[in-house]
Amino acid sequence: MTDQKIVVLGAGYAGLSTATRAGRSGQVTLIAPEERFLHRIRQHETAAGHAEHRPALTNLIRGRGVQHVRARATGLDLTARTVHLDSGQAVPYDTLVYALGSRTAWRGVTGAAEHAYPVERAAELGERLRTAEPTSTVAVVGGGATGIELATELAEAHPRLRIRIISTGLVGSWFSAKGRAHVLRVLDRLGVEVHEQTTVTGVDPDGLSTGHGRVPADLVVWAAAMEPHPLAAEAGLTVTAGGRAVVDDHLRSVSHPEVYVVGDAAEVTVPGTGTLRMGCATAQPMGTYVGRLLAGRTDQPFAFRYLVQCVSLGRRDGLLQLIHGDDSMRPIIFTGLVGRTAKAAIIGSVISALR
Ligand SMILES: Cc1cc2nc3c(=O)[nH]c(=O)nc-3n(C[C@H](O)[C@H](O)[C@H](O)COP(=O)(O)OP(=O)(O)OC[C@H]3O[C@@H](n4cnc5c(N)ncnc54)[C@H](O)[C@@H]3O)c2cc1C
Repeated sequence: MTDQKIVVLGAGYAGLSTATRAGRSGQVTLIAPEERFLHRIRQHETAAGHAEHRPALTNLIRGRGVQHVRARATGLDLTARTVHLDSGQAVPYDTLVYALGSRTAWRGVTGAAEHAYPVERAAELGERLRTAEPTSTVAVVGGGATGIELATELAEAHPRLRIRIISTGLVGSWFSAKGRAHVLRVLDRLGVEVHEQTTVTGVDPDGLSTGHGRVPADLVVWAAAMEPHPLAAEAGLTVTAGGRAVVDDHLRSVSHPEVYVVGDAAEVTVPGTGTLRMGCATAQPMGTYVGRLLAGRTDQPFAFRYLVQCVSLGRRDGLLQLIHGDDSMRPIIFTGLVGRTAKAAIIGSVISALR
């Protein structure tokens, strides 16, 4: 045990994985506002009205030497090495692990922040959909993994609603040809209307303005882009143009080496793998690595290879896409219940690995 004050900011996949490992060897304070684990990769299920599966943080950190402070960071003084909280408290640190993740990016689209639901408001969205007129139209903006999971989940849970998915490019464009074809087949089976190569330029109470004209919608869900939490840039950590903190090969901030940055907040490039995308799949290994580093269980540079990509397509279907270690596609996929079961297994393993 050391008397170093380690503060972990954020209790998502990255922050929690760090805290539970580092807590075994030092004094760790974990700062995050929620009582239950955020579990963002299940938010589309919540939006569809399914019960939430969010373990209590106290259960996840029990016996790990971690003290959870339920508060939101409002400022970060990198010179005084202090985190300022919305409770008025100031928490000093010797080592800071910054893991504030990301949030919906509106990218300046007129009316989007006012009229569209971000995935973060999944529970509210679920309630709104439950009481929506059966003939309502819902537009899901974004043809990435989150948009696909949302559109299929909502269409399956609410078969009488008319669901549309709108994508600037092709829906699921990065999957192998077979993988994308399966996604399109499921969207078609569930009656989801697909609008590809369609850029949304505005959102209003009656729907969307796009480069191809109007897309009417009673309700809009925004899953088009994520951006890192702004606190890192505001505090003066060196960040990329996109706002992710620049780190070295041990995930230390290049401008403030006493600060580690993990998860969506960090721009990490691994030799042979490339620049890691935002994802639970990358956040959790980063957190585990820094936790082990702080516990003195490794001193090696961070290494990472991708294994698979997996999306749920409602409760009964899914796509397990095999990939190379650098995230490029292999022409092998598993679909249907096998894909869905694989996704459930991945979600289960994520929770076990947090402890
Ligand atoms: C519906 C959906 C499905 C997804 N599916 C997948 C998937 O299948 N595979 C995959 O790899 N990725 C998936 N993702 C992306 C994945 O959820 C994120 O990349 C991941 O959550 C990033 O983890 P993180 O630990 O960096 O941050 P987060 O999980 O965002 O956690 C951030 C933490 O910081 C806390 N926080 C925020 N602001 C403050 C503050 N001011 N003060 C203190 N604490 C604060 C939060 O409360 C939280 O505890 C999905 C995302 C969504 C929305």
